[in-house]
Amino acid sequence: GAFVEFRNIDKTYDGEVFAVRDMNLSIEKGEFITLLGPSGSGKSTTLMMLAGFECPTAGKILYEERELASIPAHKRNFGMVFQNYALFPHMSILENVAFPLAMRGAGKSEAADQARAALDMVHLSHFADRRPSQLSGGQQQRVALARALVFNPAIVLMDEPLGALDKKLREEMQIELKHLHENLGVTFVFVTHDQDEALTMSDRIAVYNDGQIQQIADPTTLYEAP
Ligand code: ADP
Ligand code: ADP
Repeated sequence: GAFVEFRNIDKTYDGEVFAVRDMNLSIEKGEFITLLGPSGSGKSTTLMMLAGFECPTAGKILYEERELASIPAHKRNFGMVFQNYALFPHMSILENVAFPLAMRGAGKSEAADQARAALDMVHLSHFADRRPSQLSGGQQQRVALARALVFNPAIVLMDEPLGALDKKLREEMQIELKHLHENLGVTFVFVTHDQDEALTMSDRIAVYNDGQIQQIADPTTLYEAP
């Protein structure tokens, strides 16, 4: 069976709008899959259901062949990165990155060591003692990435993480993310409306339109005539 499987998923908000409709999607362990599509097409909703922040209205999500709804959120071991970074402003960079470990009951010095290692991965260990407001947007997003990676997650969920960055920085971060993925072998699920971004980074791309996946392809075959 697949690592993650969405089976016949419907999601409506307030019983009205279909955010996704009869959606099927399999995610393979270790792949970099991108959910691509225009604003409002259901990408975030898919991610939020996988994260456990939203429940499907109908259908089933399986994670390692178990029903996701039966797995408590704190046992899912998924890292999340959002467009707005969502760092804690009153904490140092090191404390921000160590936070998920503290939540999981790690000792202080062990958490600090692991947080430093995660900051190393995104080349920011020299900023460990700064506050988020002292860093640029791109740097803050790398801190958020380190925080999502620090507990060796099974999956990293990213919702338009590069959306707030300028073009040059975006392109640098795309390459950095691709390298991180290659080095870590962790499953990445990445949401974007930017086709070039999807083509640059992904192993596979699920193309959303109006709450449905219209096509799933790898970057070399996407949009080829059927
Ligand atoms: P994106 O296109 O990046 O997904 P959205 O503007 O669609 O951003 O959504 C941003 C946030 O607002 C999400 O948390 C989403 O759940 C919420 N949201 C989106 N549309 C609505 C809506 N019609 N009513 C209430 N909340 C919404
Ligand atoms: P995308 O991520 O592709 O921009 P979303 O999953 O955020 O799309 O939204 C899909 C649809 O669901 C949109 O019509 C959006 O307005 C609606 N929606 C998303 N979140 C909410 C919410 N919390 N409440 C009501 N409607 C929502």
